[in-house]
Amino acid sequence: MSEKPSLNWGLIGASNIAREWMHEAISQHPDCRVVSVFTSSEERGEAFKADLGIARYYTELDAFLSDPELDAVYISTTNNRHCAEVMAAAKAGKHILCEKPLAMTYEDAEAMVAATVGAGVVLATNHHLRNMETHRTIKAIIDSGEIGDVTSARFSFTVDLPDNLARWRLNDPSLGAGVLLDLTVHDLDTLRYYFGHDPVRVSGIGLTTGADTPEGVLDNTTTVWEFPGKVLVICHDSFLVPYGGTAVEIHGTEGSISGEQILWQKPQGKVYVTTKHGKREINFNHAIPYHRTVSDFVNAVRGKGVPSASGRDGADSLRLVLAAREALATGRTVEISASAKYAR
Ligand code: NDP
Repeated sequence: MSEKPSLNWGLIGASNIAREWMHEAISQHPDCRVVSVFTSSEERGEAFKADLGIARYYTELDAFLSDPELDAVYISTTNNRHCAEVMAAAKAGKHILCEKPLAMTYEDAEAMVAATVGAGVVLATNHHLRNMETHRTIKAIIDSGEIGDVTSARFSFTVDLPDNLARWRLNDPSLGAGVLLDLTVHDLDTLRYYFGHDPVRVSGIGLTTGADTPEGVLDNTTTVWEFPGKVLVICHDSFLVPYGGTAVEIHGTEGSISGEQILWQKPQGKVYVTTKHGKREINFNHAIPYHRTVSDFVNAVRGKGVPSASGRDGADSLRLVLAAREALATGRTVEISASAKYAR
């Protein structure tokens, strides 16, 4: 363990995830400490200072970023703010871990990636499911060939939003409300991680189902994806399922993998494999995924690796949900690789 922490972080956003998970995840790393927070609210700044022991807060972004002590920022504001805050942090020469979805538009995401490359700073996206032992185990089983060639998969990211998370996620499309930017973007990042490539087309149906959900905000969607190699994937993402739980299934020619309760923030759930030899539970030790997010990020800053999900990954998973949004809006299948709009 280092004698003295050597990477000073500032939080951009006095958010729930910063308070519940990321302040601890950053602070537990032996080379990191959180020195400041930027928030639009004096009240939340005071609360973060008092509750988390953060030395100072700022309500002006320029003043926050001008702190010469600051090396890196973690951005967890509402989705509409990510782009401008990444651009400002890159300009100030800070390394950046940004929440998903990386941006609201693909054009913004591309500009963010380009700005950070130009500034020579690391940009990572907090797609935490890649860092869950459950999903790492599933990927390892797929890669081992035990279930043969993958033919299909199903994600059920079906949850019931608690009140503290429901606010803008249900009410405000200008901040990125709806399941596509909240849940489906995680599904697609995880599928890209499992399979190593992007899907080629998407279609589906999206509904506004909840009595309190404003018309036009999709809170209940099924998207259907074709990945290369004739792999069919169904993602059901919903804010309206109080008792269903979350699940992942991967089916291959020689077996199937099932993951129960594995699409959450908290490390939990079980993974099973079924083949001609029967069904067995896979054993592993759960770990907080955000710890790996931070340690991979620190290694990337030190030039010793790459982030577990890069800015490029964040832009690519966003590109896919924007293709899904177009498919749901038009009722048509969107060809992803052939579409100039989504071409890289
Ligand atoms: P919050 O709603 O808790 O916070 C977002 C912003 O809203 C804050 O930056 C804050 O602005 C403002 N805010 C916070 N609390 C209140 C309040 N009580 N009333 C009014 N405004 C408030 O967001 P989440 O933590 O749920 O999500 C933040 C980001 O993180 C999103 O982009 C989301 O997609 C992502 N996320 C990622 C997860 C993951 O596992 N990767 C999990 C959860 C969220 P200010 O800072 O200016 O004070």
